[in-house]
Amino acid sequence: MNNRSRISAQSPQEANVQEFDLVILGGGTGSTIAAWTFAGEGKRVATIDRKYIGGSCPNIACLPSKNIIHSAKVASYFRNSQEYGITHNGFTIDMSGVRERKRKMVRGMNEMYLDNYEKTGAEFILGTGRFIAPRTVEVTLADGTTRRVRGTNVIVSTGTRARLEPIPGLAEAQPLTHIEALELDKIPKHLIVIGSGYVGVEFAQAMRRFGSRVTVIGRRQRLMPQEDEDVSEALRALLQDEGIDLLLDTRVKRVSGRSGESVRIAIEQNGTERALDGSHVLVAAGRSPNTEALGLDLAGVELTDHGYIKVNERLQATAPGVWAIGEVAGSPQFTHISVDDFRVVHDNLNGTHHVTTGRQVPYCLFTDPELARIGLNESAARARGVPYRLFKVPMESNFRAHTLSETRGFVKALVEVGRDRILGFTAFGVGAAEIMTSVQIAMNAGLPYTALRDTILTHPTLIEGLMPLFSSAPSIPKMESESTTSDASLVAG
Ligand SMILES: Cc1cc2nc3c(=O)[nH]c(=O)nc-3n(C[C@H](O)[C@H](O)[C@H](O)COP(=O)(O)OP(=O)(O)OC[C@H]3O[C@@H](n4cnc5c(N)ncnc54)[C@H](O)[C@@H]3O)c2cc1C
Repeated sequence: MNNRSRISAQSPQEANVQEFDLVILGGGTGSTIAAWTFAGEGKRVATIDRKYIGGSCPNIACLPSKNIIHSAKVASYFRNSQEYGITHNGFTIDMSGVRERKRKMVRGMNEMYLDNYEKTGAEFILGTGRFIAPRTVEVTLADGTTRRVRGTNVIVSTGTRARLEPIPGLAEAQPLTHIEALELDKIPKHLIVIGSGYVGVEFAQAMRRFGSRVTVIGRRQRLMPQEDEDVSEALRALLQDEGIDLLLDTRVKRVSGRSGESVRIAIEQNGTERALDGSHVLVAAGRSPNTEALGLDLAGVELTDHGYIKVNERLQATAPGVWAIGEVAGSPQFTHISVDDFRVVHDNLNGTHHVTTGRQVPYCLFTDPELARIGLNESAARARGVPYRLFKVPMESNFRAHTLSETRGFVKALVEVGRDRILGFTAFGVGAAEIMTSVQIAMNAGLPYTALRDTILTHPTLIEGLMPLFSSAPSIPKMESESTTSDASLVAG
């Protein structure tokens, strides 16, 4: 027990309620940083999580998936080794070895997190929590016993889980979610992925590279429809070149069989129904908030129509002293946003007015190559009537990409007409996330695009590719017409 907490026992109903300055229900990344920060500031803090030290990101989501994706990249290097002048006598993929590398990383993270809890003095309670009264949470521990904790403030951050759509036979087929897919110790013979969002697409490419036959079923007419058409098309071509069967504009009607043995999936495409046979099915078609069974009604915490915790722009829930952060608060579903939500609550609790409104949401899809975007893309600019100059060059204009034999893709930037302000940047190519981040920092610093063009960037780096981008002839001004690729030539190396 945290020796900084106090026990109150004013009434039988409140017997043995431990008092904290801050109780955090659900220990995701934002919550974890909140726990360490507030405890470091001298507050009595308790974080409750039913299973994961550090929440989804280091255990079952971002980091393990990127770990597995990197093993898949190594497999693709083996497959393409001749490109690099290396021959070998075949190779095998041992999925239990792939899994063990991931497990080792997760164990290391867990130890590091527990160590930090210890150092900061925040208490981590492993158990399932639910409100029993305003700002008061009862935790059921693994041995069935309970503890009651009350916070002067409570942060709810219970996250989301993979949504299982009410498709006949789907639940009975016991489909994989990302959690089980990250624990596979055998390569699926034929993996059918329901959902063409980022989780589905990242897994599809990784599993294909391990040797699975992979089919992706998407409801929309194109991949990542929030992206520009050239981006969707580039992604589609990538998946196709990897040998993934992509079925878009397709509905799943029924599922039979059992994932891990054999499954049959009835689909409808262009009004025609047919069946797909596979060995495994992975559901990656949206998320549902973890708000049931939290006793929120006993705490005066209201939900939105979609079941997320109702919050204002300061992330205050409808009950006094209760805040919500991360996915359960309906925030964009990224770890960096869960962390930013922490900053918002931290500032508000420390007397500074901080809101989520209008914040920047950088984004990366960790396919190989990656897709990364910050700010406006062409479709959004057009929809908002924002005129722009378009700079766009293929990754072939990037010298570093040539040294890596990874010249697929392009980068493009939107620059304000009449001024040199960067409105948005998209990269689909090797190192896209890192390249995008340097543009993001320039945007946040209010630098004109010419600053990136004229900075002496180390040669040969991927970020150096910003020089040919911003030295290329922009199309001016850009509003209604279709985007065109600038005819940029390589800047001398
Ligand atoms: C496969 C996959 C890959 C992803 N990759 C990326 C990526 O590359 N980059 C990125 O930015 N984002 C990624 N995300 C999204 C990212 O994981 C989340 O946005 C991020 O973890 C923030 O989640 P959170 O803090 O809202 O909640 P979570 O981290 O999900 O934490 C919620 C916690 O609450 C606990 N909990 C729930 N109910 C209770 C209860 N009653 N009592 C106690 N504890 C409870 C859960 O055990 C869980 O640990 C990925 C997601 C998935 C599924």
